[in-house]
Amino acid sequence: MQTHFTDTQLQDPQIREADSILRKCVHCGFCTATCPTYVMTGDERDSPRGRIWMMRELLESPDSVSSDTGYHLDRCLGCLACTTTCPSGVDYHHLIEIGRERMDKVAPRPAGDRMMRWLLARVIPYAGRFRVMMQLGRIGKLFSPLLPTSMRAALAKLPSRVPSLDRVGSKTMNFKPRTRATRRVILLAGCAQRALDPAINASTIRVLNKLGVEVTVRQEAFCCGALAHHIGESKAAHQTVRAALLAWREELERGDVEAIIANASGCGTMVKDYAHMVGDDPELGAIARQVSGLARDITEVLADLPLETIVEKAPESRGRITYHSACSLQHGQKIHDLPIQLLREAGFEVRQPLEPHLCCGSAGVYNILQPAMADGLRQRKLDNIARAGAPMVAAGNIGCIQQLDSDIPVRHTIQYIDWASGGPPPVQD
Ligand code: SF4
Ligand code: SF4
Repeated sequence: MQTHFTDTQLQDPQIREADSILRKCVHCGFCTATCPTYVMTGDERDSPRGRIWMMRELLESPDSVSSDTGYHLDRCLGCLACTTTCPSGVDYHHLIEIGRERMDKVAPRPAGDRMMRWLLARVIPYAGRFRVMMQLGRIGKLFSPLLPTSMRAALAKLPSRVPSLDRVGSKTMNFKPRTRATRRVILLAGCAQRALDPAINASTIRVLNKLGVEVTVRQEAFCCGALAHHIGESKAAHQTVRAALLAWREELERGDVEAIIANASGCGTMVKDYAHMVGDDPELGAIARQVSGLARDITEVLADLPLETIVEKAPESRGRITYHSACSLQHGQKIHDLPIQLLREAGFEVRQPLEPHLCCGSAGVYNILQPAMADGLRQRKLDNIARAGAPMVAAGNIGCIQQLDSDIPVRHTIQYIDWASGGPPPVQD
């Protein structure tokens, strides 16, 4: 794609980055077929190609941009399916971040929208606050008809059951195996996940300990910053990222940490991107690059460990399971086959739904900010899961798990692996 930035505009490093991304797009349109919003609406402006075109206009001529641009950029899920499909290697991931940041400056959002984003960035990343919000939300649902649409949508997404808060991450902790540890890793305990499902961290630590891995969790690294980053709350995101990096630097200085593990793939994608995000920061650049180099999804770490030594022998298959591939895992981190392979090693008969590349509509807080599109995608995914004909579903991201949990229960992949190696059943009768 041709661009026409002026020399003055190109002095800005962000514009230079956008320019080099834009120039890679040849406008072939291959990406439109796998873009969930385009599949749902058929509108070119809801496709990656259309958004790339609009972002070029926004960046070249910000004064002439229309409100349509912001509307269609907001409808992008950030699922990155387009990056998997694109034959030209267009870095849509970083282009949309630049586009959204510029759009916020050119046409600030209405006060209500800004307030909602401010609130989400200050509640959900804090597990304790989020848990209180879930409890209050149960009362708030009673008054739902009196509330504005955005608040109603947010309340509808809150789970009806509020589990006790995950103690993992409440303070700095070391979880040692029964026998002498042969390896040490850091686990990012996560934020919303701690409030929504403590069983995921418990399973992760149990499986790693059984495999001889010591697990360290730092209290200061309470969130990866993705949620705030993706809704334009960049100051809040930066503070969170800084806290995590400084805490992990202390651990890495010991020299024995083999990996920094995320068991929520949305967080893993973010941590792997720290090097890009703050790589030029004088204080954080070096540690950010080291952390991104060590960041792994839990399935990547398990693939290097002798899982067969802890999986209990099953007389036959443990049963049919549908694997839902979270976008942040399959598109953000390009990990799709590995969890399927591990589930098979653990004895499950794995099925995949139709349209495995399409997002379920969760996408961080997209399901709160864009409820209509999110609900349509959710239903489409649930229909495809039902057609797969398995009684349970595995996924590698808490957002998808919450979005899709229904008559067919959805649990984290690590919970099924834990179960197969003597842990508790992920789905209680
Ligand atoms: S597939 Fe890639 S090159 Fe083709 S239109 Fe989409 S982003 Fe551009
Ligand atoms: S990130 Fe997802 S929703 Fe956004 S343009 Fe790409 S494929 Fe479409």
